[in-house]
Amino acid sequence: MNKNSSNIMALTANTSNKRETVCIFGTGDFGRALGHKLIQSGYPVVYGSRSTQISNLIPKDAEVLGHAEAAQKAAIIIIAIQRQHYNFLTPLAEVLRGKVLVDISNNLKLNQYPESNAEYLAQLLPGSKVVKGFNTVSAWALQSGTLDASRQVFVCGDDMEAKQMVMNIVRALGLTPLDKGSLLAAQEIENYPLQLFPMWKFPILLSFGLTAFFFFYCLALDVIYTYIYENNNFSFFIAITIPNRVCPVMALILLALVYLPGIFAAIIQLYRGTKYRRFPDWLDKWMLCRKQLGLIALAFASLHVVFTLVTPLRAFVRWRSSKGVIAQALNNKTEPLNNTDAWLSDSYLALGILGYFLFVLLGITSLPSVSNNVNWREFRFVQSKLGYLALILCTAHTLVYGGKWFLSPSAYKWYLPNIYILSLIVPCAVLVVKFVLIFPCVDKPLTQIRQGWERNPKYSE
Ligand code: NAP
Repeated sequence: MNKNSSNIMALTANTSNKRETVCIFGTGDFGRALGHKLIQSGYPVVYGSRSTQISNLIPKDAEVLGHAEAAQKAAIIIIAIQRQHYNFLTPLAEVLRGKVLVDISNNLKLNQYPESNAEYLAQLLPGSKVVKGFNTVSAWALQSGTLDASRQVFVCGDDMEAKQMVMNIVRALGLTPLDKGSLLAAQEIENYPLQLFPMWKFPILLSFGLTAFFFFYCLALDVIYTYIYENNNFSFFIAITIPNRVCPVMALILLALVYLPGIFAAIIQLYRGTKYRRFPDWLDKWMLCRKQLGLIALAFASLHVVFTLVTPLRAFVRWRSSKGVIAQALNNKTEPLNNTDAWLSDSYLALGILGYFLFVLLGITSLPSVSNNVNWREFRFVQSKLGYLALILCTAHTLVYGGKWFLSPSAYKWYLPNIYILSLIVPCAVLVVKFVLIFPCVDKPLTQIRQGWERNPKYSE
């Protein structure tokens, strides 16, 4: 058995408290931060560097040697160097034979090279055991100890023993290793830190697009139309009135869009008579970003609440109500309380409050810390049953608010429907189809399909 493999055996078989030396190539930001953390966790650390001069930045208990000398002291070598410098490792191939090399590198762009950095390292040093890991952890988080959000460390590699050794180090640092399989997974792991909110892209773009559309729609009907035909300058509506129309409309539509893909999925499964055929890609992607759509909807609903609460403070609102009071005083006539209007206004407020309460509850249960503490049935109860209830309450809130006013011809400026009428299309469609889907004659076959029954089984016994 050569010296290197004996080092590896020593590390895996070691059951005493003493930890084996870890070598880090590169004394840059990441190398230093990881070295600090390793030393804190009881690992002796030796750096392999182009300069053996000790600087203040290097952890004080670490040794700094030339690359070859440092590599001989450890079975695991962490390569804290950018990929473009990997060529310098080729002359060290013999020293590194049999050693575990941990590739922690990241790229500047997605799929920057044809192969992953870890596979490239394995090609350069075929005698070494390359493991990918640590690249999703930042030097700053390691140093400042703010690792809570990124405790998970993806690890992959072709050599099980080597991978296990790296995972042991990850655990010793207080992090959680996640085995992603062979080195083929390295490209995906390297792309991971470069992704910019992948699940949020579609919901954010959709929200921007719809918000802009509804904003200009309101601007045309509430400001431009009144300026042209009624000679009123309501340009200040841009600040609060229009946002307070757009926000509830967006909240309602986005909440309905959370449940619409489930409706499509049910219809597709009923039509195909099986659940064993993949949904179209667009539906898969839509299903995956339902949580994000729901959270954006909650943000719009919260803005609507705030805009509504400040309504009494607005000069326009105070002017309008004092105008009404003065008109009554001049006419010497107090208008009687309209009981129907009082009922409608109290009902729509109550529906809105209850709908918003459930909305917040949905948002809270979608947080990982909460959803991890409820079982699947409880999660489904909140997200599906209470979610639909929230959609019903919010739709009713809009319907009651509009009431008979939706039917009045003055609500159709330029023959265009009021924004609230538009906002009801998707939620009402979702609720009507959902109502049909819960009928026993539809629900029963759908439940059977979801339990694995097939109308035309492909593989019959
Ligand atoms: P860095 O600060 O630029 O340090 C890289 C180190 O590589 C240098 O300090 C130097 O160490 C060594 N080096 C530079 N040129 C070299 C050459 N021509 N030949 C041999 N060695 C050379 O970079 P870093 O931020 O520490 O990142 C190191 C690696 O970790 C990168 O692959 C990066 O993608 C990855 N990473 C970084 C972070 C982070 O937060 N910084 C997070 C995850 C992954 P010596 O002077 O000691 O030789």
